[in-house]
Amino acid sequence: MPNTWTLKDKSFEKYIISQDIQAAIDGLAQRINQEMVGKNPVFVIVLNGAFIFASDLIKKVKIDCEIAFVKLSSYAGTSSTGIVREVMGLDIDLKERTVIIIEDIVDTGLTLDSFLNTVWKMGPADVKVATCLLKPEAFKDRFPVEYVCFRIPNEFVVGYGLDYDGLGRNSEDIYKIK
Ligand code: 5GP
Repeated sequence: MPNTWTLKDKSFEKYIISQDIQAAIDGLAQRINQEMVGKNPVFVIVLNGAFIFASDLIKKVKIDCEIAFVKLSSYAGTSSTGIVREVMGLDIDLKERTVIIIEDIVDTGLTLDSFLNTVWKMGPADVKVATCLLKPEAFKDRFPVEYVCFRIPNEFVVGYGLDYDGLGRNSEDIYKIK
């Protein structure tokens, strides 16, 4: 992919290259392979953005596991309040299961905070969060995030599943706004 990418009215520059992403995922997968032995975790993939990260991560997970999908949406104009709804809900019983939620990016964490409450109400044995990117300045440690590939400053990024107004998901590298 080129070093500069123009999507609609914005320019983006290459930020995290594919090789570095894959190396970080190798590290996460190794940890999951060690820490989740015998637990048969359910990976809950948060659509749309996490689909590429989840695919790469799960291919490297060698223990028994299952997957499920959820699509979350903030109510229009209220994303900052963290009021989210499931547009596509979970079709799996999480009671007494070890759950690993897979996100593309945790920014303020408000979206996931709300979904975590929903998941904990289902009576799981344990819930962990895996994310490709985390923005610590915005997040302020709202809840534990066990598996993180990269901690990044508060800058808007696209690529590797992440979009700008629907575009830009189709890149193996991550770009940041210029
Ligand atoms: P949060 O609720 O953690 O503030 O944000 C959750 C969602 O906002 C993410 O799942 C993602 O869809 C979107 N988001 C936050 N930061 C970025 C970013 O830098 N780039 C893109 N493309 N989406 C972001």
